[in-house]
Amino acid sequence: MDFICGVRHLLFSYFLINGILITIQTKEEVILDMKAAGGELGWLTWPLDQGERSGWEVVQRTLNGSQFYSYSVCNVGEREQDNWLRTTFIQRRPAASRVFVEIQFIVRDCNSFDGASLTCKETFNLYTSESDADVGTTFRKGQFKKVTTIAPDEITSKNDLRINTETRVVENLSRKGFYLAFQDIGACIAILSVRVYYKTCPATVKSLASFPETVAGGENQALKEVNGVCTDNAISENLPRIYCTVDGEWVVPVGQCQCKPGYEEVEDTCQECQQGFFKAAASGDKCEPCPANTQSLKSGALSCPCMDGFYRAPNDPPNGPCSGLPSAPKDLVATTTQLSAGKLVLSWSPPADTGGRNDITYSVDCQRCESNVCQACGEKIRYEPASTGLTDTKVLVSELDAHLNYTFTVEAHSGVSLLALPRSKPPSTSALTTSLHYTDPPKITSMRLVERTPTSLSLSWDVSPRPRALSPPIRYELNYRKKDDNLGMTTYTVLKLEKNLVQVNELNPGTAYLFRVQAFTGDGGAGGSSMEEQFETLPEGHLPQNNTAVIFGAAVGGAVMLFIVAVVLFLRRRKRNSHTRQGPEDTYFSSSEQLKPLKTYVDPHTYEDPNVAVLKFATEIHPSHVTKQKVIGAGEFGEVYRGILKAPGRKEVAVAIKTLKPGYTEKQRQDFLSEASIMGQFAHQNIIRLEGVVTKFKHAMIVTEYMENGALDRYLKDHDGEFSSFQLVGMLRGIAAGMKYLSDMSYVHRDLAARNILVNNTLECKVSDFGLSRVLEDDPEGTYTTSGGKIPIRWTAPEAIAYRKFTSASDVWSFGIVMWEVMAFGERPYWDMSNHEVMKAINEAFRLPAPMDCPSAVYQLMLQCWLQDRSKRPRFGDIVSLLDKLLRSPDSLKTIADFDPRVSIRLPSTSGSDGSPFRSVSEWLESIKMSQYSENFTCAGIVTMDQVLQMKNEDIKNIGVRLPGHLKRIAYSILGLKDQTSTLSVFAV
Ligand code: AMP
Repeated sequence: MDFICGVRHLLFSYFLINGILITIQTKEEVILDMKAAGGELGWLTWPLDQGERSGWEVVQRTLNGSQFYSYSVCNVGEREQDNWLRTTFIQRRPAASRVFVEIQFIVRDCNSFDGASLTCKETFNLYTSESDADVGTTFRKGQFKKVTTIAPDEITSKNDLRINTETRVVENLSRKGFYLAFQDIGACIAILSVRVYYKTCPATVKSLASFPETVAGGENQALKEVNGVCTDNAISENLPRIYCTVDGEWVVPVGQCQCKPGYEEVEDTCQECQQGFFKAAASGDKCEPCPANTQSLKSGALSCPCMDGFYRAPNDPPNGPCSGLPSAPKDLVATTTQLSAGKLVLSWSPPADTGGRNDITYSVDCQRCESNVCQACGEKIRYEPASTGLTDTKVLVSELDAHLNYTFTVEAHSGVSLLALPRSKPPSTSALTTSLHYTDPPKITSMRLVERTPTSLSLSWDVSPRPRALSPPIRYELNYRKKDDNLGMTTYTVLKLEKNLVQVNELNPGTAYLFRVQAFTGDGGAGGSSMEEQFETLPEGHLPQNNTAVIFGAAVGGAVMLFIVAVVLFLRRRKRNSHTRQGPEDTYFSSSEQLKPLKTYVDPHTYEDPNVAVLKFATEIHPSHVTKQKVIGAGEFGEVYRGILKAPGRKEVAVAIKTLKPGYTEKQRQDFLSEASIMGQFAHQNIIRLEGVVTKFKHAMIVTEYMENGALDRYLKDHDGEFSSFQLVGMLRGIAAGMKYLSDMSYVHRDLAARNILVNNTLECKVSDFGLSRVLEDDPEGTYTTSGGKIPIRWTAPEAIAYRKFTSASDVWSFGIVMWEVMAFGERPYWDMSNHEVMKAINEAFRLPAPMDCPSAVYQLMLQCWLQDRSKRPRFGDIVSLLDKLLRSPDSLKTIADFDPRVSIRLPSTSGSDGSPFRSVSEWLESIKMSQYSENFTCAGIVTMDQVLQMKNEDIKNIGVRLPGHLKRIAYSILGLKDQTSTLSVFAV
């Protein structure tokens, strides 16, 4: 084993001590058992003819009261002994290329033979010879290969019997069978037992997949990959696999089976959901109780149908609860605030029983009744904001007529109301009815000229309804003006009156005047105005003309006040459309163009035509408004440019422009634009902002805000050691806030990693990389899994690797890895371990150790993110709160997590890659990525590793290493070099 592997083993050992060790039972298959054969062994001895001196002999022995046979030889006084004992032909099972030979034997102490110590031996040799067939009694020494020499741990003196047990491995067997042979070269030995066996990984069931008994491999196939078969009623998209080690242990299960719909896992089997429970999809979840208002008819249900009278709306989850129809709205009242304008406000309270839904809307129906005959109010009545689809519990009704009874019916609806039709509505949805007797406010119905002179006009008018004795008194406001005033300048005269007649004096002779009267009730309510009426004074010198017999003296006295108001009207502005209509979808938008967060993210795949999705979520930009300046990166679909966006009426902004390379297919174009459809739904400080898209021209583009410092991993590597923990935690806080926003919108990122975070010039970090196909076609870290998808193993939660359970909780795991990347200045998680090793280590409860200088609280948070049980991991909301708390009290960052340079500064910082010390200072500096200081070392005369080992922290500073992070890295590495021997003894197990 080379040194790297040795150290890697040590690492594992260390973590295994802290973690959980998996112990798996192994099985031994015995293919030769000397004891079991009794006296029928028939082993061959050689030389055949020993004459006086006998070679190996069968000897019957009694030990602890039981009898058994052994092979013994004891020619200690003879020279040049060469006695062979060969077993019978041992058939090999085809897969067993590695067998174990366990020998129990006794060796007599040579000193116990007087005068024989010169020739006496205390060892014997084990040989083997492979063959495809039993060769019977043919025996050729030359065909045997020596396996090993066997020596006793304890030798037997005259009266003290010592039994030794030794086990040896015979590797690389390939033929149909083999023989073992024991060569004696002059010892006094008894072989009591020989047992030959191989190891197997026993048949097992793991994660609902059964794996057959498997013979453990040999040195050339240390890990045997074995495919499993799903147990009854379990399914899997891809075959689950597991590895059988040479020691007959199962390790690293990959993939798993899951109970099919209607079944759940109970002690390694899939059992039908009990009645009253259901399971809709193949998953590792348990059967769930049938939700509210559903019924379960039998066991093994895939879903629970709605009970009678309960429904699921088309958008309801097919396995969610069913809901009933809402009951009637409550407390319907009508308030008349502007009677004279023919308006009233209907308001009510939500129904007592919403049927379990929160998508209640209301509709208003109006009937007008005269003499007990009712009919629909028709289109004349106006409703604000509408008569149907109301989410608010009030509506303004206008254009009502006087003297009529109106009956308003308000009905509550929900997503399931339509489903109840065409059946008759159950009484629970009956609407509440209120009747209003609507009294018209006073309204001027006609205006007449009573008398006129050259300087006065006497007018009267009627009001409707006619004032009744007890109704509040009505006052009037008359305003008039000359008809032919100069254009643009109008002088009104306003008279306030208590009676419905007036004489207006001091007018110009022969002049036309325009009059308008408005009535008011005593409670301040305004009524309708009259039309503007025109009357003309008599020309100069004419006698007064009486139109009626009414005497005006009193009337004139009735004018209690007179104002002259000069109103300069430059424009007659009619307030047209004073309240702009706001559709339900508008409520998501504020008046600025900024999009507020939608409740949940909409998967662009749900749109039949992806082009529609892009147009819905992204602004179309004209390509002439975009200028490309410089290539800054390569995306999956084409180059990424830095550039300028100059939209009409807006300031120039720096942007990143993603392009689609020529020769794309329609599918690629849609995948490319899907990123914009997703990004366009987000509006958050820590999510990369979409400026818009170019889709209507040949060269499609996605334009986003420009992030000056590029990808976070690269940026941190380039600025290794330059930021304080406070700054790093600040960056993490931003990323966590962005992720909280995404998880609140139910968006699961799946590829959260420092390489997918972008940094701007104020060190703000923003989450990016949202393509649909991105998981993870464009990610070099993506590794194909058994289920066919690509997964960035070292960033991904175990449940997402094992059975594609991607959730915000798996994003939290990835966030923990991002935390580690950030605190380690862009170090690669798990260094140079292979993906396979990473998975194995995670399964064995291994977790990344704290990066150098990492605040303890931050490392604790990482460990929380990496809890195996995803329900125990913190949520992004918790993470943001915790990071905020740390940032508010920076002292909390001062306690640093335990750091072990021997573990945490990865090889080869502690030695050369081949286990030898570094050959030069520059080689060592390169290994710890500190080559930039090579010259500093040379100039300071430090040119050998011995000199390096003598350096103190002060010396490192003095040669010009100033950054604290770099100082520590170099110092720790030196410490590691010095400590190498103690490391080995500390971690070796
Ligand atoms: P992507 O296809 O999103 O992985 O982008 C490829 C590379 O282009 C990234 O790794 C960044 O270096 C660069 N890049 C992408 N978007 C931006 C941006 N908004 N600002 C600056 N650089 C970017």
